[in-house]
Amino acid sequence: MMALPSLASPGTLFGWPSNLSGMHHARFRDPAGSLREGTYDPETDTVAFAGDEHALDDPAIDVLPPAEPTKIVCIGRNYADHAAERDAEVPDRPLLFLKPPNALAGHGDEITVPAGKDRIEWEAEIAVVIGEQCKAVDAADAMDVVAGFTCMNDVSNRDDQRREQNWVRGKAFDGAAPLGPVLATPDELPADASVELRVNGETKQSSDRSHLMFDVPTLIEEITTHLTLEAGDVISTGTPEGVGTLADGDTVAIEVEGVGTLEHDVRVP
Ligand code: MG
Repeated sequence: MMALPSLASPGTLFGWPSNLSGMHHARFRDPAGSLREGTYDPETDTVAFAGDEHALDDPAIDVLPPAEPTKIVCIGRNYADHAAERDAEVPDRPLLFLKPPNALAGHGDEITVPAGKDRIEWEAEIAVVIGEQCKAVDAADAMDVVAGFTCMNDVSNRDDQRREQNWVRGKAFDGAAPLGPVLATPDELPADASVELRVNGETKQSSDRSHLMFDVPTLIEEITTHLTLEAGDVISTGTPEGVGTLADGDTVAIEVEGVGTLEHDVRVP
């Protein structure tokens, strides 16, 4: 049996603490291949560890997702305009589904989407990273368990999503959760932080956090009523209107105000 690699000490999960402010965390492999848990400077668009600084898009480094979740809890139809474009009802409580860790991809990665599908779609989302193990959290205390925010693409295979009750083929395939590029502490995002998605430079989605029907504290209270969140777990808060179909060779950019821009390429086999 192969031992699972761990970034943290044995018996603990990797995660960023939930009591920090005024910073951006970054995880990357440096040019020597060492895994670094460093910082990101949005002014210079550089990541750094122990004084060793690199441009975020330096091909000599590999930017990794800024969290190692045991699960990604996704929220469906959390913007009224997206529910309308899907011809779906606005839910009366948060609609929850899961993506597993195999779905993760990082900034600068190319994701290979399932073959032979007509509609693999993008969904720009503001993602929350949890900072500590928690259960039964009141909305009033919920921001205490948040390490920060990042960007996620909730890549969705509509061909199968519409044919299955549990969205495994539809939402959980390898590469279905590009996440990053970095983690911003909660104070770095304004209350109406914008979320925008561009495909090959053309803007397709544009909204902001104030349009979430269920806000982040409400989501954390509802989720932790039912299940334990671990340090590093991710909540992806839903997508606004403007979803559309990905094509081979597309470059997707998702920008969340206060975080940065997650970019990835798409291969359709
Ligand atoms: Mg979504």
